[in-house]
Amino acid sequence: MQYIDLASQYKILRERIDQRISEVLTHGQYIMGPEVTELEQQLSKFVNVKHAITCANGTDALVLALMALNVKQGDAVFCPTFTFFATAEAIAFVGATPVFVDSDSHSFSICPVDLEEKVKTIKTSEKLNAKAIVAVDLFGLPADYEAITKIANEFDLKVVEDAAQGFGGQIGDKKAGSFGDIATTSFFPAKPLGCYGDGGALFTNSDEYADKLRSLRVHGKGADKYDNIRIGMNSRLDTIQAAVLLEKLAVFPQEIINRNNLAKKYNQALSKKFNTPQVPENYLSSWAQYTLVEQSRDTIIAHLKANNIPSMVYYRTCMHQQSAFRDIKVSQYNLYRSEQLSQRVVSLPMHPYLDESDFIKIIDTLEAL
Ligand SMILES: *Cc1c(COP(=O)(O)O)cnc(C)c1O
Repeated sequence: MQYIDLASQYKILRERIDQRISEVLTHGQYIMGPEVTELEQQLSKFVNVKHAITCANGTDALVLALMALNVKQGDAVFCPTFTFFATAEAIAFVGATPVFVDSDSHSFSICPVDLEEKVKTIKTSEKLNAKAIVAVDLFGLPADYEAITKIANEFDLKVVEDAAQGFGGQIGDKKAGSFGDIATTSFFPAKPLGCYGDGGALFTNSDEYADKLRSLRVHGKGADKYDNIRIGMNSRLDTIQAAVLLEKLAVFPQEIINRNNLAKKYNQALSKKFNTPQVPENYLSSWAQYTLVEQSRDTIIAHLKANNIPSMVYYRTCMHQQSAFRDIKVSQYNLYRSEQLSQRVVSLPMHPYLDESDFIKIIDTLEAL
């Protein structure tokens, strides 16, 4: 059994993906070819935002977003401590200071109460300039953008949505990727929408940010590639990856339905015995991960492993505990719920093509525990 089964998906899409890749090999426009433009149009339509700008990966997407918002040294950027490293890394990479915020034990996302508390602390200390919030749609569930936006407006902060895991999710009829001033995603193969290598994208309704992002991803280009008006990066999505993504995006809505059906089945079978994930009313998760929160996590993992069932721990180490962040000058405190999550979470196999026999095996194995 695979934790994420990409081979099953390829088997279904093989002809169409091979055809698309072959077309790229024929026209030979490997950098910024017509598939990149086509994908950006499809992505902006899917998310329902004015601009979708592709780039090389989800980490670059975060860095580009922060650069477009002019985040720099001396700025404080608030982000959850319970997340993938790239969220906080991007903040430090542009020279700003990540201020770590605790997470809600049920949604796994940044806790608005602790966020407000930490923003107030930074605002009154005067050492750092409170500049932005990077919220993360952890495990596929969009963060609480209503509460986050309220805090951002009150304290004059920009909001970045890290939808690397949440792409495909929704709040009401608003899609993940449409929240905040700029949203980012990743097309790393294991993400809900993945390509066959690295890839990423940014989303915004602002013409100004979109222009800046299109310049920043190609060495800060001006009117053309050899007219450079700012310091940027080299961060483009390969045309071949865009070709793959066009075919995967076409079946993505059905895959989100499949993932939600599987999550529902998991919840029905497991919620009596385990702490199963809950989706707030009006929210739709893309189920990047299906995650239990259990004190006996290590026993569960060992038992699954003994029965050849893969499971994963995302994430064992909070950002404030990472040695890369040991020198951060502002104090990082009150992160207990995140620390507890990092000790208790375990994720089960989750992908759109998990078959019934595997599902039954997982349930039977967990019930025998
Ligand atoms: C995967 C991920 C990223 C980084 O994406 P890459 O494409 O691997 O660079 C950023 N943030 C979160 C929350 C992620 O899960």
